[in-house]
Amino acid sequence: MLTVETTWFVFFYLTLFLGAIVLAWLGSEAYRWKTGRRFRVASLSCRLCGMVFLPSKTESLAECPRCGAKNENKNAVCRSAKK
Ligand SMILES: [Zn+2]
Repeated sequence: MLTVETTWFVFFYLTLFLGAIVLAWLGSEAYRWKTGRRFRVASLSCRLCGMVFLPSKTESLAECPRCGAKNENKNAVCRSAKK
């Protein structure tokens, strides 16, 4: 019969439990880093009020939702350039 001491039993389950927590934490950090990077790349800062917003990918002049100023969208996908 397999005999396991209580200390090894506690050590094994504690390691398993903490390992699962660390893996979940690393996964959430990786997801946050990935989505944050995507937002930083696609976001636009208004030249008048400084508000950061996500413009549409197709409009080359994005309108600020706060002040209504037109801002140049350098990340806009130009439809005529694809042809
Ligand atoms: Zn603005």
